[in-house]
Amino acid sequence: MPHLPGFRRASAESAPSARAVRRALPPVGRLRRERRELLRSREDRLRDLGGLMLEMFRRDQFRRELLIERCGELVALEDRIAELDTLIAAAVSRGRVLPAVYCECGAAVFAGARFCAQCGRPVEAQ
Ligand SMILES: [Zn+2]
Repeated sequence: MPHLPGFRRASAESAPSARAVRRALPPVGRLRRERRELLRSREDRLRDLGGLMLEMFRRDQFRRELLIERCGELVALEDRIAELDTLIAAAVSRGRVLPAVYCECGAAVFAGARFCAQCGRPVEAQ
């Protein structure tokens, strides 16, 4: 039976805070690669699951535990994909901060911002 090492359903207690996520963010390229691989794996598993069910139907022999186990693995995989989406969004938004550009008040200015988020001064076009 294939296992998914490292996969487990995220619970409310184990969910990292937004601050912790920002502090320990892996490179966005690695996150995207893992996401792509998981999406491919998800497609394969969905197809296998359909084949498994059809085979059970043919033999008129439904093994409930097996289906539950396979579905559980798929849901864990989807949870990880959703987690990756959150991490990628955090990494991308962090990358949008231009630390070289500061408002007169000293706050960092976000790319594309027309006004300073800190004091409301209009941002001069760069
Ligand atoms: Zn400002």
